[in-house]
Amino acid sequence: MSTAFPRPEEMSRRRFLGTAAIGTLAAPMSLAGMGGPALAAEPAGKGPAASARPTLLKRGCVLTLDRAVGDFESADVLIEKGKIVAVKPGITAPTAEVIDASRTIVMPSFVDTHRHIWEGILRNVLPDGSLGDYFRVVTGTLGPAYRPDDVYAGNLVSALGAIDAGVTTVLDWSHIQNTPEHTDSAIQALRDSGVRAVFAYGSPQLGPPNKWWEDTRHKYPEDIRRLRKQYFSSEDQLLTLALAGVPFPTDVALSSWKVAREVGARITVHVGVGQFGKRADVQKLGEAGALKSDTTYIHACTLSDTEWKMIADTGGTLSLAGYVEMMMGHGLPPIQKALNAGIRPSLSVDVETSVPGDFFTQMRTILSLQRNAIWERDLAGEKNLPALLKTRDVLEFATIEGARACGLEGKIGTLTPGKQADIIMLRTDRLNVLPVNNATGAVVTSMDASNVDTVLIGGKVMKRNGRLVGVDMGRVTRLAYEARDRVMTRSGYQRSPL
Ligand SMILES: [Zn+2]
Repeated sequence: MSTAFPRPEEMSRRRFLGTAAIGTLAAPMSLAGMGGPALAAEPAGKGPAASARPTLLKRGCVLTLDRAVGDFESADVLIEKGKIVAVKPGITAPTAEVIDASRTIVMPSFVDTHRHIWEGILRNVLPDGSLGDYFRVVTGTLGPAYRPDDVYAGNLVSALGAIDAGVTTVLDWSHIQNTPEHTDSAIQALRDSGVRAVFAYGSPQLGPPNKWWEDTRHKYPEDIRRLRKQYFSSEDQLLTLALAGVPFPTDVALSSWKVAREVGARITVHVGVGQFGKRADVQKLGEAGALKSDTTYIHACTLSDTEWKMIADTGGTLSLAGYVEMMMGHGLPPIQKALNAGIRPSLSVDVETSVPGDFFTQMRTILSLQRNAIWERDLAGEKNLPALLKTRDVLEFATIEGARACGLEGKIGTLTPGKQADIIMLRTDRLNVLPVNNATGAVVTSMDASNVDTVLIGGKVMKRNGRLVGVDMGRVTRLAYEARDRVMTRSGYQRSPL
């Protein structure tokens, strides 16, 4: 509790809630305008433990997305001890718990490589907002009003929403590290949700001008050393560690990226965002030798050709949040530039303040954007055009390329025997998709989150028959609304309710 970052008038309340944030306060508090406890005694999102018995997904249409394994109109997937053991037709496993996968498409679950999930309680707060509005309202006004229990609620509801939509891995780009207690709450919510996550430890929100590098009231980035020891000493767990890094000022970027590499954490960084993206930040970091294959570049809309070359030459990965980029003014999503540079992007939601949290939207956005650009060039009479993206491409961007950008391609992203069983079953007997004539096409062109019937993470059933397993929706709902109200009240921000 020692490094609190409250405004002075909030000190007493801050201390009080701080106790709740790490305690086991079971009964709701009723402080005016502040609501309930930070963490209830029992976690909200814990499904039953992964079955000790093998699990057999029987007779599904299986898209493994692993070309060596192939795809199947009808096959079984055998899971043991959380891992995929076999994918083929006609598996017999007498001791297995059988899940009927007929009338579903079985495929790797989605991987979101960049989402600020602390903003889960701010969903749709800025439906028409620009990037400028976002900086003014979300990071400038609401972020500084967050306390640890608000981070918990935001992370919890967003992570559960991701699982519900079949997104089982999220890189939580967590730039709400106002105090170490905020950090602990963020991690606790990820744990309680059961999601697979990369916790990308980020900077604090201190309010304008948020020059946190000149401020000593927070512990970024040095506290990542504690996190590595306290929470991330093993890679053999659902949560892994990264640094949510900054590209500017260059000296601050260089020193903080250095800390990340000292603790063996990957780096994820926003670059090429609107006018800011034209400052040659990436070029300066490249000239300083800081660009490596451990880094994921987000957006990259307004980078120079020199910077693209530097990223490609150093083996960097890419996270495109195409829908947000077009909605809020980041610049044209650089899908063609990426492909021209030989980089297959991953996809990301970014902010639920303005865009939905599902991945069907993300896939269709990038697919239609790239194809439209090529067709426009075709209409203008250009010859020898780049290839049109196909539905299969964006399905890979949403899965294996996401895994690669998270450093998890050896664990997830395809249904390859030996990998973790992070799997979704998508219903094909629904009015938005039947009759299915092409499985890849069905997922990318016809489906939405309502088709997500069953979700497994590391072999553990998180959603079944269209409902999350083991989630106390009443509690999650209460936490989300109460935290939302607290943050609005504390910040003085007037949301527009209609
Ligand atoms: Zn972002």
